[in-house]
Amino acid sequence: MVSSLKKILQFINNKQINYIVIGNGSNLIGSDADCDGVVLDLRRCGSEIHHDGAVFTVGAAVSLLTLARFSAERGYGGLSKLCGIPGQFGGVVTMNAGALGQEICTYVQELHGILAGHDWSWRPEPADWGYRHCRLPSGVVLTSVVLKLKEVVPEEENKLILSELRRRADVTPKGRSAGSVFRNPPGEFAGALLEQCGCKGLSVGNLHVSERHANWIVKEGEEPGHASDCRLLVEEMRRRVQERFGVLLENEWHWVNLRQNLLHELH
Ligand SMILES: Cc1cc2nc3c(=O)[nH]c(=O)nc-3n(C[C@H](O)[C@H](O)[C@H](O)COP(=O)(O)OP(=O)(O)OC[C@H]3O[C@@H](n4cnc5c(N)ncnc54)[C@H](O)[C@@H]3O)c2cc1C
Repeated sequence: MVSSLKKILQFINNKQINYIVIGNGSNLIGSDADCDGVVLDLRRCGSEIHHDGAVFTVGAAVSLLTLARFSAERGYGGLSKLCGIPGQFGGVVTMNAGALGQEICTYVQELHGILAGHDWSWRPEPADWGYRHCRLPSGVVLTSVVLKLKEVVPEEENKLILSELRRRADVTPKGRSAGSVFRNPPGEFAGALLEQCGCKGLSVGNLHVSERHANWIVKEGEEPGHASDCRLLVEEMRRRVQERFGVLLENEWHWVNLRQNLLHELH
């Protein structure tokens, strides 16, 4: 699978075609416009897990929950606080996914991927990670991640995993979403600012700001949502917070826009 991906990326690179990579798509808002390029859907590209003691090499398509369960059975873990995040490792690393004060960067030792059609490897330093961010070179496609996990007692780790999945099911608003709309600004919670601005319940089309969580947009019904409605709603939320608190909120999720993903950035 990875060798086919490399051939595709070599072709794309030679032809100067725009592209975007999709992991599980849980942090992406699609586009209403036609795509001017290639969408690489990596949901099934790289689902292997190998380990040598505490060091695990996982394919980019492995989900956090799969690794948490697999490693717990073998006496390794520490991922229970992250296990309910619905991403797979390519996206999880790109976004430096985190929850409850923990981030995936704590465990990552090495990254492997393809850049401009060639094999690429990197050992990120602490300074290469930020809040929901990894300083990856533009255009890299991750294929596997090496992590060092902690020793754990399997039964205890499995209990922690289960309890975190239950906690999430209780607190996560129901309906399709892309997770938190905005990053937390330094020293603040975006959800609290949005709530104070009366954002809960705002809606455009079939998209609504959740009544449970003001930093969460959910889509209702079976009809697809529109990116244009989503932008209007997001801009209204941002405007309210900026007017009242002078804080400019930044989107946490990514908007799919192939025209911004120009391949010349790779060279
Ligand atoms: C219900 C819900 C709850 C969530 N809770 C949390 C939470 O608690 N904490 C948190 O941090 N996030 C949370 N998220 C957001 C999201 O799940 C994470 O950001 C996750 O890490 C994204 O993984 P993904 O595979 O879905 O990535 P995608 O959404 O597919 O992609 C995200 C970014 O990574 C890039 N990417 C994906 N795969 C690769 C690859 N192989 N190589 C290079 N680039 C790649 C994409 O191009 C895109 O820029 C939540 C989302 C939802 C819907």
